[in-house]
Amino acid sequence: MPFCPICKNEYREGITVCHDCKVPLVDDLKNGPVAVLFGEQEYLEEILGFCERNGLTTGFIRFSEENNAQQLYFNQEEVEEATKWIKVYLTRKEMERLAEKAGIAMEDMTPELAKQLQQEEIEEMKEMQQMERERISGRTSYVDKRVKADEYKSSGFVLVLVGGIGLAALVLMYLGIIPGFQSLKSNYMFMGVMGMLFLIFIVTGIMSFTRVKHILSQAVRDEDLTAKVQKFMGEKLTKEAIDRAMPRGGDGGEEEIYFKRVEYMDSVLKNEFPDMEESLREKLIEERYSELYEDNDH
Ligand SMILES: [Zn+2]
Repeated sequence: MPFCPICKNEYREGITVCHDCKVPLVDDLKNGPVAVLFGEQEYLEEILGFCERNGLTTGFIRFSEENNAQQLYFNQEEVEEATKWIKVYLTRKEMERLAEKAGIAMEDMTPELAKQLQQEEIEEMKEMQQMERERISGRTSYVDKRVKADEYKSSGFVLVLVGGIGLAALVLMYLGIIPGFQSLKSNYMFMGVMGMLFLIFIVTGIMSFTRVKHILSQAVRDEDLTAKVQKFMGEKLTKEAIDRAMPRGGDGGEEEIYFKRVEYMDSVLKNEFPDMEESLREKLIEERYSELYEDNDH
């Protein structure tokens, strides 16, 4: 029975090409083309072109349902050769990238220099991760809604007070009760502009007060949500559960492990509480993380 080497469908005897994948069928899946690389169409086309210029003839690109990606295939007999050329291609690309980034001409690029530049890049990345981590753990951007409400309340109060005093002063000036402003009194332009300004103060102040109510209701909502999320994390984001989700292998340093854990926690929470504010989520993850992994001696 013939099989399609790509989608692995079995076909009736006599059929020679897969209807979906448009590749010749094979009698034994072991003899079929082999996927050597997956990626974006354009990227694979470039690599395929490079391989073809170097004498390979059996390469083709197909979408693999199984891996949900475009894949580059070569026939069994060319796989070894193809792998070699792909390596050459990728190395050259990487050297070009490093040369461009460092402002070095390609002619001056050597494997040693490339290695050194790569090393520097890795160091840079580590530093950035460290900084990012400090930023996250240092202060999350989440603002406590009750604090925010207090701020709105006091700024609203100040605005209304200033606006009110200002308006009162204008009236008193106009009535001549505050002396010395006779010339200003008849300056309608001045009176109008100042009056408008103080009115805006008052209106803005009142709007702040109405915001306070809204923010306080948000505070209550956040507190409810926080309790829910904390309960959820206590049950679902345990050390065991997080460890289970960590990819095996990899020479994960301290930083890398931290980021993978946080990334996982973030994705779980995002999925479970899609409407939660990002900054609140960050804050709660940070708290949970130190609860789980940082020694607290008290
Ligand atoms: Zn097929």
